[in-house]
Amino acid sequence: MMLDLKHIKKYYTVGDTTTKALDDVSLSFREKEFVSILGASGSGKTTMLNVIGGLDHYDSGDLLINGQSTKTFKESDWDAYRNNSIGFIFQDYNIITHLSIMDNVTMGMTLSGVSNEEKERKATEALERVGLKKHMNKKPAQLSGGQLQRVAIARALANDPEILLADEPTGALDTQTSHEIMDLIKELAQDRLVIMVTHNPDIAEEYSDRIIKFNDGKVLDDSEPYQSGEVNSDFQLNRTKMSFWTALKLSFTNIKTKKGRTFLTMFASSIGIIGIGIVLALSNGFQKQIDNTQAETLSQFPITISRVGLDSQAAAQNSQSNGKNNFAKGQTIRAKRSTAESAQHINKIDDDYVDYVKDIKKSAAKDIAYIYTTGFNLVRQVDGKYKPVTFSNLDESQAQDQSSSDPSSSVGVGGAVYPTDRNGKMSFLKQNYKTLAGDYPSKKTDIVLIADQHNNVNINALKNLGFDVKNNQDLKASDLIGTKVKLIANDDFYRKLPTGTFVPDKNYQQMASSDQTKTLKITGILRTKSKNSDGLLANGVAYNDRLTKEVVDQNKDSAIANAQRSSEQNVLTGQSIKSASRPDLMTYLGAASVPSTIQIYPNSFDQKDRVTNYLDKYNKDKASKDKVVYNDLAGSISSLTGGLMDAITFVLIGFAGISLVTSMIMIAIITYTSVLERTKEIGVLKALGARKKDITRVFDAETTILGVGSGVLGVIVAWLLTFPANILLEKVTDLSNVAQLNPWHAILLVIISTILTVLGGHIPARMGSKKDAAIALRSE
Ligand code: ADP
Ligand code: MG
Repeated sequence: MMLDLKHIKKYYTVGDTTTKALDDVSLSFREKEFVSILGASGSGKTTMLNVIGGLDHYDSGDLLINGQSTKTFKESDWDAYRNNSIGFIFQDYNIITHLSIMDNVTMGMTLSGVSNEEKERKATEALERVGLKKHMNKKPAQLSGGQLQRVAIARALANDPEILLADEPTGALDTQTSHEIMDLIKELAQDRLVIMVTHNPDIAEEYSDRIIKFNDGKVLDDSEPYQSGEVNSDFQLNRTKMSFWTALKLSFTNIKTKKGRTFLTMFASSIGIIGIGIVLALSNGFQKQIDNTQAETLSQFPITISRVGLDSQAAAQNSQSNGKNNFAKGQTIRAKRSTAESAQHINKIDDDYVDYVKDIKKSAAKDIAYIYTTGFNLVRQVDGKYKPVTFSNLDESQAQDQSSSDPSSSVGVGGAVYPTDRNGKMSFLKQNYKTLAGDYPSKKTDIVLIADQHNNVNINALKNLGFDVKNNQDLKASDLIGTKVKLIANDDFYRKLPTGTFVPDKNYQQMASSDQTKTLKITGILRTKSKNSDGLLANGVAYNDRLTKEVVDQNKDSAIANAQRSSEQNVLTGQSIKSASRPDLMTYLGAASVPSTIQIYPNSFDQKDRVTNYLDKYNKDKASKDKVVYNDLAGSISSLTGGLMDAITFVLIGFAGISLVTSMIMIAIITYTSVLERTKEIGVLKALGARKKDITRVFDAETTILGVGSGVLGVIVAWLLTFPANILLEKVTDLSNVAQLNPWHAILLVIISTILTVLGGHIPARMGSKKDAAIALRSE
């Protein structure tokens, strides 16, 4: 390959002094010759070598390669030219110390995409040629200066370049070694152009064919000038490209040389990941716990539709209309309904609605209770005498208040109502309760006592049934089971006075023996199966919803019910009644034909949504007053806890996120340091033909390794921390295995860590890639 320099100028301006490093240099080189460039320090020798090698670019003039101008060369052309045609040898060898000798020698070929086999063959050849066959497997640190220079020569030779540029190759070597290296270079000059810079005239004299003397950027003397003729051979350049794999390898071997620092860096930057990992593991676990408990507990609680419902939307609107939390200004007073009252919604439970509810799919809710909160007229024989009793859980004084003035004032006769399976079975009890004593009820007239998990039965319930018990008194189940209670029809129970009002009759003995009287019997004492369903039915008497229906059917045409229907007064007290309490009174007397409460028991937590969606559909496009609102205790609890968990999680992740950002900045600093440290390496890679992109890639690869490393480390540490965390939590909360790191979260965290570190390191990496190769190689 022939080179022609035509009026090349290269000026450096620093501050207001301009150095003419090359000042109108015109030279031509033969295809094969050994040229020495002699000159004092600072005369521009290195600059010329760099310009010839494409490491540095001339300001003006032209460099002709095989007669072809390089004025239009793009960066990638120069990269390819350096890689394909030029071999560089430096005074201080510039071997990449963290790579093996083999990898150093093959780097140029790696950049131009030569196959592994060919690379190895050519590198071995080159190493043999420089006399290093025996030392091939050593590490650079184990070689002497002369040997390192031989590696550098092998590296320059490996790609078989047409031009070898050597910048004071023996400058750092002793005389003996210098001669050996010079012999080698002389030999190489036989089939290529070698341009060697030296300040040693003896060496120049002894070895080279031609000596060019430099002074102040100008050619002072040329021993064998050459005038190139027409050249026609055009040349083709092979583009270079470093694969990400090569970049990774380069970074990996580099990282291996600073294990301690790398580990510390990874650890520091993994702290954010550890934080987020722990937070996620905890919230994940808590949510799972909550979901499980909810699914178990809350699914068993019914969706309740009562005559007076709570419209949560209205409640929210009301509290909103109060405005902000500030105190009001001025002295104007506003009349305002209480939030609780505004939220009250009178549900219009009519036959249509009952039919609608009856159409709920059995796969969504197996058990539905239609409760007619009607008054039960009950008497029981105690010590041979009948006396009135109730199923209430209220204590005596409250109960007396109730019966003496107006029995309907507090609707409900007490006791718990359990639903019938929609297939007519009483499976609800069997599913949630086991028998402490006696049997499950089998008829609607069978009633049961519900005890809590400690076998307690409400004392008022027992007293109201006519048992003479003291607090904490122990009872035998056999004393309770078999107890019979007579349920009296209204017509037997109430007597009409001449004034038109009705009063309860006192002739209990006679009532009890009436044809219409039903006999209720306590068949068993039941206790909840699991702690979670405790409270599903109130502790005390429980009966079937069909019993309430039967009582209503029996009483709806009773004299007292009929009288109440057509009267504006309370037929029990003779007092006028407020319109609001009229429905309660009607219900109490059995005159209402629709249930006052509907309780829907979803089959599972998931099925509950189907039920509520179905109920919501009923309200669609209905006027506000026709809407029927339901009360979903389970739902409101779960959405509350869910929201709370989310909020806490977000806050904690926010905190951990800050440390992620911190580690990102740290990685940027570390990468920048690495760029500074590896300046020489950047120069060498560029001299070998690496593109800017490739350099960026090397550092990106390094941060990728750091990112993956710190991500994996963080995830592992977070995972390990879940064990002590769980032990601690179990001690404090009784919950086991709360902290659970979701594998998907772990993967996501590694990815996040990698992306953030690469982002953090990318800017310094770009800075590194922009480094001027000529300056990089001059740096110490
Ligand atoms: P030599 O190799 O003959 O010792 P150089 O080619 O290295 O000389 O330098 C020639 C002149 O150019 C010197 O005066 C040097 O200070 C100057 N020089 C080289 N590179 C730069 C640079 N990047 N910025 C400013 N001045 C430079
Ligand atoms: Mg120099």
